[in-house]
Amino acid sequence: MTPLGLLLAQRIAATGPMTLADWMAECLMHPAHGYYATRDPFGTKGDFVTAPEISQMFGELLGLALAQSWLDQGSPSPFTLAELGPGRGTLMADALRATHGVPGFHEGLQVHLVETSPTLRTMQARTIPLPAQWHNSTITLPDAPLFLLANEFFDALPIRQYQRGTTGWHERMVGLDGDRLVFGLAPSPLPDARFATDPQETVVETCPAAPAIIDAISARILHHGGAAIIVDYGGWRSKGDTLQALRAHQPEHPLANPGLADLTAHVDFEALCLATPLPRSGLIPQGILLKRLGIDQRAARLAAGMTGECLENHRAAHHRLTDPAEMGSLFQTLAFHAPGTPLPPGFDAPET
Ligand code: SAH
Repeated sequence: MTPLGLLLAQRIAATGPMTLADWMAECLMHPAHGYYATRDPFGTKGDFVTAPEISQMFGELLGLALAQSWLDQGSPSPFTLAELGPGRGTLMADALRATHGVPGFHEGLQVHLVETSPTLRTMQARTIPLPAQWHNSTITLPDAPLFLLANEFFDALPIRQYQRGTTGWHERMVGLDGDRLVFGLAPSPLPDARFATDPQETVVETCPAAPAIIDAISARILHHGGAAIIVDYGGWRSKGDTLQALRAHQPEHPLANPGLADLTAHVDFEALCLATPLPRSGLIPQGILLKRLGIDQRAARLAAGMTGECLENHRAAHHRLTDPAEMGSLFQTLAFHAPGTPLPPGFDAPET
């Protein structure tokens, strides 16, 4: 077992089974052994590759979309340009480079990053060319207009899982069988009114941290203006067991190597929307959003200066970000914006 596995097994032996959310929080953020707290997991040599690491076009286009929204809202200044879980800082760096020519944008912005990992904070400081302030949570973001990006942030937040059985709902817990870590079920009340009529055997997930994060963002946007663009994999009320452990690009059992594997779950975008009174977009697949924001034109422009392997990699990256069989439809995008202001470009109003 890993050192963190031993610690958590001792804790379970002493105080009883843990919720999946507590388990995930320890595995990802434990100060000495947590997955994000101790390493740079990104890139081809890491455990997974994210969209900003695949191509500079991703951050450029999202940055420009946010800048357009800022212009549409009358260029409020000063304002907060924020990112949740910036990883290596690549998305923010690309967004800043692309928005250099937007009149007044750089003069007015203050970069704020919500990041708990000290290792990744250091990396972000090296990548992002402007001074930035770091936060452990969205609660301390400034009271100011807020323009915010979040890519693959919500999927890293701890979830709880519930299953409907013959006699009602049960919560999936992490317990011990001898000295082995195992999943078990504990009786539970109905986890969320949305699931009241779900049939037996249904598995559902909740993300207890997400509503408070959305609430803090909403409060800034509601009072001072702004917009938020969220990109993640998941769906509208995602169903089933979506907990996934990934190590060196291979899936593994979520209890196999605590602290050494990345743990994620699909994002329930409906739950995010229920946590805010702000007007919002419909859910739009990443591939469609990027095409509407002009990725094909940007790709052609970049390709003009490339040859050989570099050009091949660039074409493959374009395909990977947009093709429905790749990240194009697995990843979904959502925008919130200040009441009475236009949606950020590329987004549609919700159908319902
Ligand atoms: N957005 C980046 C990285 C995604 S990985 C990219 O697209 O490449 C998730 C990021 O969120 C990491 O930076 C991780 O350290 C951070 N993170 C995870 N849980 C967090 C939490 N509860 N609070 C703040 N940051 C968190």
